[in-house]
Amino acid sequence: MTKKRLAILGSTGSIGTQALSVVVEQNEHFEVEVLTAHSNADLLIEQALLHQPNAVVIGDERHYEKVFEALDAHFIKVYAGDEALSQVVQMDSVDVVLTALVGYAGLIPTLAAIDAGKNIALANKETLVVAGELVTQRAKAKGVNIYPVDSEHSAIFQCLAGEFHNPIEKIVLTASGGPFRGMNRTALANVTKAQALKHPNWDMGAKITIDSASMMNKGLEVIEAKWLFGLKPEQIEVIVHPQSIVHSLVQFEDGSMKAQLGLPDMKLPIQYALAYPDRLQNTFERFNFMDYPNLTFEQPDLQTFRNLQLAYDALNKGGNIPCVLNAANEIVVEAFLNDKIGFLQMSDVLADTLQKCTFVKQPSLEDYIASDAEARRLATDKI
Ligand code: NDP
Ligand code: MG
Repeated sequence: MTKKRLAILGSTGSIGTQALSVVVEQNEHFEVEVLTAHSNADLLIEQALLHQPNAVVIGDERHYEKVFEALDAHFIKVYAGDEALSQVVQMDSVDVVLTALVGYAGLIPTLAAIDAGKNIALANKETLVVAGELVTQRAKAKGVNIYPVDSEHSAIFQCLAGEFHNPIEKIVLTASGGPFRGMNRTALANVTKAQALKHPNWDMGAKITIDSASMMNKGLEVIEAKWLFGLKPEQIEVIVHPQSIVHSLVQFEDGSMKAQLGLPDMKLPIQYALAYPDRLQNTFERFNFMDYPNLTFEQPDLQTFRNLQLAYDALNKGGNIPCVLNAANEIVVEAFLNDKIGFLQMSDVLADTLQKCTFVKQPSLEDYIASDAEARRLATDKI
């Protein structure tokens, strides 16, 4: 494998830092060209001094001076602001862009990277939730590959290796069920932010951890899967699997099912996306059956965890509705993290926003931008 030069958007986050540890272990295969953060200037500086990228971007312009002063003497270019993200991903020296930033902010830089013909390792699922059709069409037109980083989608992708010509009957996305699995609505009415932030199996950023507790993460993943694998909503099933060992499954037209298994460790799907089609030897901890003698499976409870149903409904409606769902969800998660609303109210605000928003059947990029803004407004008003 020739050495791949990476742009890591969101290098200071959970996925970003794990990606950098993959780079350290696989330094004969990867080198870092670009690192970006939103406001964590100290960690960005530390990462840049270690990895010596060509350029860094600090999203929040108030930290520009600090980052510039720390890195200029090391011949590392420093940029600030959202627009810089779309420029650095287009640099000639970048081979692959890992989108590890969180939320809607991933959309425009991902499109810019695709337009420049860069392959994408996609962690930022929100990009495909907001504008899956536009993004996948543009990638196809540009001959750009989108390699999934999300563990479930990586599992499906790994199961499809050597099978790309075989039609899929269905896929099954596994869900851990999060910290509140098995609870009823009375119990959920009183759960706290601290409880929601304690995921049983994964250590992730705050937004996706809340999404996991509310099952919205699985809803976003259903939409993500539709676009990555070209499926109809009815071909995408969700099963709760509390141990998070079976990362997802594909069923082919002959009824055969393939699954991908492993310990819950995001470094593996990150490495697979970056090294594809190669598998690289590594020191990650190995799975031992005797540590998990019981792998169990349950139906998801869509009445209690309404967000998963709302996501299926949004996917079935199509157009700009998944974009609206995503924007309203970003608002309610932030409100929940700021103690402004309770756990169950998140779904109420989502349902209300979905009902009030303007429907656009075939949205352009401008329509998505407008829908995102409208949904944020509606959700904020409701809160
Ligand atoms: P984190 O919150 O840990 O990290 C987010 C990163 O994005 C940070 O580098 C942050 O910078 C940066 N960032 C935040 N807001 C903005 C913004 N408005 N503009 C530009 N950059 C921004 O998130 P995760 O790593 O957990 O998740 C990243 C993405 O990967 C999400 O889409 C998530 O759904 C997906 N994902 C994550 C998994 C995980 O295990 N963590 C698993 C599967 C998917 P700063 O540090 O300066 O704030
Ligand atoms: Mg996932």
